[in-house]
Amino acid sequence: MLLRPPVRQLALLLSCQFGAARRLPGTGCASLRFVTAAAAIRAAVPVPAPVLSINPKLDATLPYRALAFYAISPIAQPDEAVESHRAFLTERGMVGRVYLCEDGINAQVSGAAEQCAEYRAYCHDQLGPGAAPEPILFKEDPCDELAFPRLRVKHRSLVPSGELLGGGASGRVASLQDRGRDVSPAEWEELLAKADGGGEEGGGGGAPIVLDVRNGYEWDVGRFDGAARPSPDTFAQSDEEAYGLPSDPEERAETPVMMYCTGGIRCEYFGARLRAAGFEKVYKLQGGVQHYGNAHAAAEEAPPRWKGSLFVFDRRNTVPLGGASSEVVGQCVHCGAPTEAFVNCGNIDCNKLHLVCEHCLPRTGGFCCEPCSTAPRRRPPVTSLADLAATQGAPPGQPDPNRLSSVKPHNVGRKEYDADEHGCAPAAGSEVGGS
Ligand SMILES: [Zn+2]
Ligand SMILES: [Zn+2]
Repeated sequence: MLLRPPVRQLALLLSCQFGAARRLPGTGCASLRFVTAAAAIRAAVPVPAPVLSINPKLDATLPYRALAFYAISPIAQPDEAVESHRAFLTERGMVGRVYLCEDGINAQVSGAAEQCAEYRAYCHDQLGPGAAPEPILFKEDPCDELAFPRLRVKHRSLVPSGELLGGGASGRVASLQDRGRDVSPAEWEELLAKADGGGEEGGGGGAPIVLDVRNGYEWDVGRFDGAARPSPDTFAQSDEEAYGLPSDPEERAETPVMMYCTGGIRCEYFGARLRAAGFEKVYKLQGGVQHYGNAHAAAEEAPPRWKGSLFVFDRRNTVPLGGASSEVVGQCVHCGAPTEAFVNCGNIDCNKLHLVCEHCLPRTGGFCCEPCSTAPRRRPPVTSLADLAATQGAPPGQPDPNRLSSVKPHNVGRKEYDADEHGCAPAAGSEVGGS
């Protein structure tokens, strides 16, 4: 099959492109209607082969896979798609998080290796041939156990904020049809070098600005050289002003903006926003940091401009990039010591995900600050790194220690719950504070 040049390049780079997707039987009436709609679109648009991005440094004999991908590919009946995807995944005992809406799909799932392969084929069959005929880039890591505690398939926006496309300072409404240009991991390196060099030899437009389009806590454990910590702290509140981007229309047109996120989807939305706001040179790291790491692992080299680990939204919490061990850049919020251990603040009304070191954890119990350690609605203190793992996603079938329902007595209301009155008092001698 002839591939468009960039697709072909990518497939060669990874040497692991798989062939035409196998057609799988539908799962019920809803699924059949959905497949029929997809087939109608497919008749008009050539279907590019999907791309599988894997890390050859990881142990492929491990029984499970963590699979992440998205597709900006219109779905006419999202509620029906939710039903068919849920049925498909449930039938195979798979877990994870799948969001579907009119824009497409954003999925992070986990299952046995062959089941993940079946789901890739199923999604390629249904979503690959959408109106925007881009190949789906599947990123898949081998892992020793299921990477999520349960399965959630929902009709909801693909990224945390639906407001992103609502129009920036320009007042124009952004469109996912125009969201900037994908750059390969190799091109990304070249652009980063330009950003370092101040853009003198860049041929106009000045040095590119590098944006980390994630949440602050993700930046804390790993990031590209030259990317500032996102401010405000969460992606959902991001806009061009928050990133300190120019407001002058001419400057916007001239300034190259490079952006990256975990898997690429947040860049699709933020890229569309910036394009609508008048930025003409918008570059997105294709397949996100996950694909960048895999490409470097395939090429037998350490990712040269990445420092630290990659935060992932599953039970693993952080993964080494490309399988290479890197210096630890995360810092304990209490003492500044290097660490990559995350915990949600034990105050349910704070819940701040923060980094804590093995020395501070027994002392702080997993609370982010002194006031949180005495807040009424709190979880029992977590005092060892071994216990901390379960707070970031319990194994499937086990209760989630982060949920209020796992903590409070069942006859006490959610709002009325008070740890001092109803139990769950912090361990004696537990004290919290920065040093
Ligand atoms: Zn510490
Ligand atoms: Zn807190």
